[in-house]
Amino acid sequence: MREAPAAGPGGVWVFGEQEEGRLHPVVPELIGKGRELADRLGLPLAVPVFGRGAEAAAREALAHPVDLAIPAEDPELWIYSPEPYAARLAGLAGERRPEIILAGATAIGREFLPRAAVLLKTGLTADCVGLEISPDRLLRQTCLSFGGNVMAAIVCPGRRPQMATVRPRVFRPAEKGGRGGRLETAPPAAGPPAVRKRRLEWLPETAGGADLAGADLVVAGGRGMGGPKGFALLERLARRLGGALAASRAAVDAGWAPPDRQVGQTGITVRPKLYLAFGISGAAHHLAGMADSDRILAVNRDPGAPIFSVAAWGLAADALEVVPALLRELGE
Ligand SMILES: Cc1cc2nc3c(=O)[nH]c(=O)nc-3n(C[C@H](O)[C@H](O)[C@H](O)COP(=O)(O)OP(=O)(O)OC[C@H]3O[C@@H](n4cnc5c(N)ncnc54)[C@H](O)[C@@H]3O)c2cc1C
Repeated sequence: MREAPAAGPGGVWVFGEQEEGRLHPVVPELIGKGRELADRLGLPLAVPVFGRGAEAAAREALAHPVDLAIPAEDPELWIYSPEPYAARLAGLAGERRPEIILAGATAIGREFLPRAAVLLKTGLTADCVGLEISPDRLLRQTCLSFGGNVMAAIVCPGRRPQMATVRPRVFRPAEKGGRGGRLETAPPAAGPPAVRKRRLEWLPETAGGADLAGADLVVAGGRGMGGPKGFALLERLARRLGGALAASRAAVDAGWAPPDRQVGQTGITVRPKLYLAFGISGAAHHLAGMADSDRILAVNRDPGAPIFSVAAWGLAADALEVVPALLRELGE
């Protein structure tokens, strides 16, 4: 086995994914965990932030317990593209040698972080659901494996940095409260890679398609919704309530909802203020992704359905009658 390299002086990094100057909700979650890991190792916690509005987002990061924020606003980073992001992160990491780099397992983090890991010739664990420092001071990364049937613990002993993407909503966000961290703008990269994308228009997401992982209200359906027509009703309800649509795996497998709407062990983890579950049985694989919601309301025809064991309110009724009635109540 290769000997462990000395701890990188750059400390623990949390990639500060942002849009138009606002941090993605996963970033405060990673800052909370990153702070814990950095303190265990006696290292600083830094947040590199890329793109237009990076400086504003870096200041937002410094309102949390972060030691250093590193904004980079080079024009080739203005519109997200995996190649320049990977090259920039790898360049900064090559100079400053962090021990650990974490990013959210978002569409962006999942795409560019593995590319950065290749450039840095190190390993990466994707989609982690647990992180801790092992007795030999390695990052112990927990992720689901073999289709979600096995929890794998992974370490990267011989390479630095140790890199991981982490599912949103797994960790609680860091408390607000800065610690006088510094802002250090990264000088523009020499010889930036060619940008192959151009932004034509900026369209905000619609309510029904709102960011699921960060939603405060989730309207979820399962096989009990009976088909695409049932899901169209749920989509209308989600839009009406300003929530995000979600689905069980059975509904996704049936093609009634897209895969990025799946909640559960092999889908997304959500922790909304209110989770409305219609026609979902409440299998353990589904509960794994939503049982930590603040409040759960379940509608299921079967009064013995396991979903009722986690629900604050339960209604043993036909969802295909309840949802249209709700829409009528809401003025449709
Ligand atoms: C390795 C692995 C990973 C998995 N990962 C996930 C995951 O990430 N997410 C996930 O969801 N599942 C996952 N599953 C699948 C999971 O085990 C269940 O099979 C799935 O969650 C069931 O979906 P469901 O509740 O929609 O369907 P069913 O279990 O078929 O339940 C349908 C429910 O609807 C009710 N119902 C029927 N008609 C009506 C009606 N008209 N009104 C009201 N209620 C009605 C029924 O009483 C029943 O309780 C995984 C399975 C495995 C093996």
